[in-house]
Amino acid sequence: MRAVLVGPPGAGKGTQAQILASELSIPKVSTGDIFRANVSGGTELGKRAKSYMDRGDLVPDEVTNEMVRARLGEPDAREGFLLDGFPRNVAQAETLDGMLKEMGTGLDAVLELKVDEDEVVKRLSGRRSCRECGRVYHLDYDPPAKEGVCDACGGELYQRDDDREDVIRHRLQVYREQTEPLVAFYEEQGVLVTIEAIGEVTEVTGRALSALGTGS
Ligand code: ADP
Ligand code: AMP
Repeated sequence: MRAVLVGPPGAGKGTQAQILASELSIPKVSTGDIFRANVSGGTELGKRAKSYMDRGDLVPDEVTNEMVRARLGEPDAREGFLLDGFPRNVAQAETLDGMLKEMGTGLDAVLELKVDEDEVVKRLSGRRSCRECGRVYHLDYDPPAKEGVCDACGGELYQRDDDREDVIRHRLQVYREQTEPLVAFYEEQGVLVTIEAIGEVTEVTGRALSALGTGS
């Protein structure tokens, strides 16, 4: 399956992508995770992306598109993938269509996660992420067994720089202006499926699997 997750920051894309990718045996490709790994590794790509990320703006398309092209060309993504955080505007979506066409394929589904803004702000303010494996927690909704420590790998949990209230507001504005038009774009292509992303993580996963036509 070749699928994309769309939704505002904090909708639960990363949380669901991790579970769905494992359920569907396809790699999760998260552009945010790849950028953050490059920032912490001090690579050229990370240096180019950092100031945009800190402000909550989109990294320029030419940088992002090339990074995705390289990732989707890797052997593990040949048979399928789940994109999280890409595309983020119509130009990126058109580039993705072109890339997939070159590969002789296309998207099977675009899954929209719907959550209202108040909930998203609560989710992002309490989000903590593992420095080592990237697993995501929430201080109230999904706390780790031991404070500050990742259940999965024992890594240190930290708060992302862009999860500060002022940056969160800006990211939501960027979502509304640049990313939300993708919903109509993919609806027109006939690949859009939408679910309510509120409730327990496992309930949302169940809805996602049914919407993708892979649920029991
Ligand atoms: P995104 O990748 O869309 O920005 P995340 O997956 O990082 O979102 O989730 C944002 C925050 O919300 C995290 O702290 C996560 O633990 C929490 N979260 C995810 N799904 C749910 C849910 N169904 N209910 C409550 N909190 C959730
Ligand atoms: P995320 O982890 O998806 O919340 O992304 C964190 C940040 O990485 C965003 O606020 C952007 O600065 C950058 N980013 C992630 N994906 C993209 C993308 N597809 N296009 C441009 N910037 C992106």
